[in-house]
Amino acid sequence: MAEILTSKTAMELEDKYGAHNYHPLPVVLSKGKGAKVWDIEGKEYFDFLSAYSAVNQGHCHPKIIGAMIDQAQTLTLTSRAFYSDALGVYEKYIAEFFGYDKVLPMNTGAEADETALKLCRRWAYDVKGIETNMAKIVVCADNFHGRTISIISMSTDPESRVGFGPYTPGFVVIPYNDLDALKDALLDPNVAGFLVEPIQGEAGVVVPDEGYLKTAYNMCHEKNVLFIADEVQTGIARTGKMLACDHEGVHPDILILGKALSGGTYPVSAVLADDEIMLTIKPGQHGSTFGGNPVAARIATAALQVIVDENLEEKAETLGKLFRAEMKNIKSDMVELVRGKGLLNAVVIKPKNGKTAMDVCIKMAENGVLAKPTHDHIIRFAPPLVITEKELMIAIGIIRDSILSFE
Ligand code: PLP
Repeated sequence: MAEILTSKTAMELEDKYGAHNYHPLPVVLSKGKGAKVWDIEGKEYFDFLSAYSAVNQGHCHPKIIGAMIDQAQTLTLTSRAFYSDALGVYEKYIAEFFGYDKVLPMNTGAEADETALKLCRRWAYDVKGIETNMAKIVVCADNFHGRTISIISMSTDPESRVGFGPYTPGFVVIPYNDLDALKDALLDPNVAGFLVEPIQGEAGVVVPDEGYLKTAYNMCHEKNVLFIADEVQTGIARTGKMLACDHEGVHPDILILGKALSGGTYPVSAVLADDEIMLTIKPGQHGSTFGGNPVAARIATAALQVIVDENLEEKAETLGKLFRAEMKNIKSDMVELVRGKGLLNAVVIKPKNGKTAMDVCIKMAENGVLAKPTHDHIIRFAPPLVITEKELMIAIGIIRDSILSFE
């Protein structure tokens, strides 16, 4: 007979048999619905991480789960050796949805980023005419694009990078939100692309100055350099618009999506571009066994449709304003700074009496709100966008009480 798990035994199992590449909060979840999750013992929490913004549509959304189950009972995987009756329908839907000629479907965010890097390099040689192996891609300090060797090669975070060399060459790092630095970097004729997060999520929800994206886009275009937006975390309505780039009317040359493209069910990512870029990759030059599988195709279509049907862009915008205003109202000097856009927000915590952001997160978890510190002193708050105003106000009360308990 299967052993009945408690939170304690579940944590012991992960600790003993799983690699120690994460440091989770001591909460063992076993159920989710909408903006809430429950642990093994039945304690209820508001989820203010949303699996790093992958669950924008809420846990176990019936329309997304319905599409997933329906397809899972019919046909799950063909590989790309054959056509499927689900893929083309999805490709048309997503390409038209975001206004591109084509999509290249992948699974994880990191894979989609890698795909974008390959597309950019291929375009550099085949279209722009850069000499073989000389193409460079400009990236920003404090970026987060995933965990592969090439991606950590462009990271400036020692924890992500140190001890994993040798590194992939071809990246030029400039400060984020620094147009002068971009201008200088673009003087090099071997620069083919500029890869940027419209808001740096993992860095602690760092929002650039208004106009940064638009000006950067224009500067790239003047120099025939591709503007590549990593919207894996910021995309799919998280910041109050379908894409964070939409706030400045920027249509990236290459758009990278992941996370909430799956509605939090299953890894689904995508790279979108027009033919001049996308058709530089020919059969056999890139791919993935699972990328574009029928289940993923159905899930992603449903996940985007839910955003539209439930008006989640507007909801993120309105509730985000409310959340920031309420956070700024907390009368504690531990709240050093509140920033964000839509429902992607962060509170910078000033340690008090030896209590840090991690202590605040543990206290919030005890009180029923789950969030996780990023970089020691910052707490990111990103609930599912389906959270109601009433639920949000309850959660804000819990966050406030938790912070004030350290006064
Ligand atoms: N790009 C950004 C902006 C991200 O925030 C993340 C993950 O947090 C990734 C890429 C990597 O996505 P994945 O973990 O699915 O590989």
